[in-house]
Amino acid sequence: MKKNQKLHVRETLVIYGRHVLKYRTSAIVLILVILGAAGASMIPPLVVQRMIDEFAKIDGVNSGFWFAFKRILELLGYWIIAWTLWRISGFLATGIQPRIRTDLERTALDALQRQSHRFFTDEFTGALVRRVRGFANAYIDIAESILWRFVPLVVELSFIFVIFVRLHILFLPALIIWFALMVAKSIFFARRRSVLDLERAAKDSKVTGVLSDVITNNLNVKLFTATQHERENFFNVTEERQVVALQTWRFGERVLVLQNIISAAFMLTMLGILAWLWSRNVVGLGIFAAAVLYFNRLNRSMDDVGNAMRRIYEALAEAAEMTEIILLRPEVQNKRGAKELRISKAKIEFQNVSFIYSDGREALDSFDLVINSKEKVALVGPSGAGKSTVTKLLLRFYDVTSGTISIDGQRVHEVTQDSLHRTISFVPQEPLLFHRSLRDNIGYGCQNATEEEIITAAKKSYCHEFISELSNGYDTLVGERGIKLSGGERQRVAIARAILKDAPILVLDEATSSLDSESESLIQDALRVLMKDKTVIVIAHRLSTIIQMDRIIVMEKGKVVDMGTHEELMKKVGIYQKLWNIQAGGFRTSIV
Ligand code: ATP
Repeated sequence: MKKNQKLHVRETLVIYGRHVLKYRTSAIVLILVILGAAGASMIPPLVVQRMIDEFAKIDGVNSGFWFAFKRILELLGYWIIAWTLWRISGFLATGIQPRIRTDLERTALDALQRQSHRFFTDEFTGALVRRVRGFANAYIDIAESILWRFVPLVVELSFIFVIFVRLHILFLPALIIWFALMVAKSIFFARRRSVLDLERAAKDSKVTGVLSDVITNNLNVKLFTATQHERENFFNVTEERQVVALQTWRFGERVLVLQNIISAAFMLTMLGILAWLWSRNVVGLGIFAAAVLYFNRLNRSMDDVGNAMRRIYEALAEAAEMTEIILLRPEVQNKRGAKELRISKAKIEFQNVSFIYSDGREALDSFDLVINSKEKVALVGPSGAGKSTVTKLLLRFYDVTSGTISIDGQRVHEVTQDSLHRTISFVPQEPLLFHRSLRDNIGYGCQNATEEEIITAAKKSYCHEFISELSNGYDTLVGERGIKLSGGERQRVAIARAILKDAPILVLDEATSSLDSESESLIQDALRVLMKDKTVIVIAHRLSTIIQMDRIIVMEKGKVVDMGTHEELMKKVGIYQKLWNIQAGGFRTSIV
């Protein structure tokens, strides 16, 4: 959680409310049944009162067993009505709560998917997963607290107010003072508790983030023998969370003590007034029994509500982080009335493009480049020259700081992002795959591709052979992020996916890691198929690719410093020649 994080109570409740509205009829019926159940539960003490008053006046021997037993049956009748209504409310709740929870998870995923690239570079995957779950679970906690604690409490309070104030007006000030104290306590509790809960949620997110980072980097942890270091790091973050959690619980317990003191004073006052009224012959004995039953119930309900408040605040803090994302305007958005990108030639133009990352690092400085239809250019340059940034801006992962980028004369920030992304196939340096079957991963490039099309793409990208050798063939699951495949296989699957997508523009960030020569040549062949008839930008790391290109763009410090074919550039003494000599040296060594 970030600094100045708010609880977003209103916003979270509005979002939840909108989701409940979808099931408004069932929700209204549910609340009515709960009101009925709570009302029915308040009647037995009145029957007890009547029984005691009647029994005090008559003689049991004369009235007989059945006189008393009828009263008992009446009492049981009300209990059965109340229990039945409570059970019905339980069944009704199970009919809507899981649905609302699922809808909320979907809303949360939609909100995440709307976010731009930068958002995901700034957040931990594990923490985001936790937020989605927390948001939906928090709804259940809040809704259950309201339904089973607050709604019945309203009924109980109304009953008690009416019964006692009708009995004597003296009860009114006592009830009002008690109620005011309870509300004041709740406000005090809420204020302090919200701060603690937000802090606890933030620490909890941190724990999840560290945990998911360690699990993702488990190989590094092993290779760098850092198990002990990670254990200590985890110990520290969990310790921080524990300190806040303890503070929160202790605070809750102290508030419950305060609440019990108020309740004791309340009972003493109310029963004291009753005793005074009895001494003046205004009330009978029965009301004492009813009052004890009512006040006990009220105290239990107030305890429950105290706990429910605690749950609600924890839940609101849990939900706040996701609510914030739902409210967050995505950094990159479609312009109002943005049109679909129409491709005729797939000509790309960067005009005077400058870009500064949010941390102030200038990645591109007045970058100019025109890439003609079906031209294949390679971007080369030292690390940090801005090559990847060029491709990220073309894909509109970020908006340029100044200048324009256009495709076939249409500016990328004026067309819809979906149409832009449909037009460009991007094969990243380390392609990530879904933990799904190879068929699903290849078919991801074209959601309604037939089996034949998938196999054809796999053949063109030289995947078919290795896939056929697997016992489950195209049904083989590739592991999280494709971890069960070799680097070369993963690349070829990514190329197959791009072949199926068949977009007119191809952006390729070549893998820097050296592959064995067989894998390398298979990938080169697959790329040749992929690049055919497309406008191509390659962030080139391999000599073989560079030589094949129509034009090589040499970049340094965010600018184009030279361009030409391999032969032309080799004739000049400059960065390219220097890079080439270094790479060629490495290349020769690697194939010796
Ligand atoms: P390499 O060949 O090492 O991949 P590159 O030429 O592709 O490098 P870029 O990745 O475009 O270089 O980075 C250009 C500059 O922008 C670098 O100084 C880099 O540190 C910075 N940079 C890249 N990504 C980010 C980011 N997400 N946030 C902040 N700065 C970034």
